[in-house]
Amino acid sequence: MGTAEPYQPHSMYAPGAPDRVAPRVFISPQRYVQGDGVLGEMGRYMSLVGSDRVAILMSARGRTGEGGRMTRGLEAAGLDTVAAIFGGECSVVEIDRHVTALAGSGVGALIAIGGGKCVDAGKAVAHRLDIPLVVVPTLASNDAPCSALSVIYTPEGVSTHVEFYPNGPAMVVVDTGIVAAAPERFLVSGMGDAMATWYEARVTMANPRGLSSIGARPTIASSAIGESCAATLYAHGVTAAAAVAAGTVTESLELVVEANTLLSGIGFESGGLAAAHGIAQSCTAIPGVHAHYLHGEMVAFGVVTQLVMEGLADEAQQVVDFFIDVGLPVHLGHLALGPSDTDALDTISAGTVEFPMIGNMPMPVDARLVRSSLLAAHELGSAAVADRGDGAYARLHAD
Ligand SMILES: [Zn+2]
Repeated sequence: MGTAEPYQPHSMYAPGAPDRVAPRVFISPQRYVQGDGVLGEMGRYMSLVGSDRVAILMSARGRTGEGGRMTRGLEAAGLDTVAAIFGGECSVVEIDRHVTALAGSGVGALIAIGGGKCVDAGKAVAHRLDIPLVVVPTLASNDAPCSALSVIYTPEGVSTHVEFYPNGPAMVVVDTGIVAAAPERFLVSGMGDAMATWYEARVTMANPRGLSSIGARPTIASSAIGESCAATLYAHGVTAAAAVAAGTVTESLELVVEANTLLSGIGFESGGLAAAHGIAQSCTAIPGVHAHYLHGEMVAFGVVTQLVMEGLADEAQQVVDFFIDVGLPVHLGHLALGPSDTDALDTISAGTVEFPMIGNMPMPVDARLVRSSLLAAHELGSAAVADRGDGAYARLHAD
């Protein structure tokens, strides 16, 4: 594989003849390490990757915090480090800037430490430099760390396309002590993203023509991972959020961090996406939503909408009740939208129809169906909030 050649898993796994189906394919990172305080062990773990000169992609703020702490630890363990400061958006301009700066620097591996966009940019940079990537997420807010793909945005922050890589990260290291110290809203957002995993993997598996994010049929493994992900959230989501609110690492938090990061990452990539992520990606085209809400928050309302679209009223109610308990959006007002925002609803509907994996849904999805499902989900969520209140949402969005 050439370093800058675009990799297209869909043509890689396309069936060899029109009357055949795509093969079942499962991909994952090579190693996943999670625990309280593991950032301090990075010097030892890096011996598994086998390079003594590493680039570290981190934000300017991260450099004064966890990124700087990790850098000192690596240097104390005898590794050379080269800092690469992430500008904040996973755009082609940003990626090219780091590739140019790091080419010829002699680094043998890249560590991306930070949030989802820093991690996604790190995948793109490491692929172009043809060096192994180590991902150190500082939040459990999204399913980016474990996948071999990046969502690419314009410099203004509108998602434009997905870039795929032939290899997953060489290692993913999650320090739950760092996750516990971050604001609760990030862990909760990750639960919205992770909850989608099961419902989207399920429709993909059930649809004989359904394809995963890499254009292959899902496996029993990816489906079972998605199901465990949802079960873990329902059982431990509320107590894990309380642990983060208190800044403590508990067993519930460990379980939910694994669900948000490992199970969600593998589950969406090898299990497939559907309407929930189509709606979330379309929401990034609405500036007021994009600027103020996290990926998992948009996905959460997408999950409710997808279940409504499937006609699964009981499960839609179950997920709405859970989302209210942890503080995720369950109606349009929770994303600063309303049922009479015609332009915004048109944008989401049109974008969802164009989403590459919308064909995994069991029915044909047109803009009218998306719009009526968005409105029905809004009604369902509004009624539930009227019933149960939305104290957790109000608390997380108090600033
Ligand atoms: Zn996601």
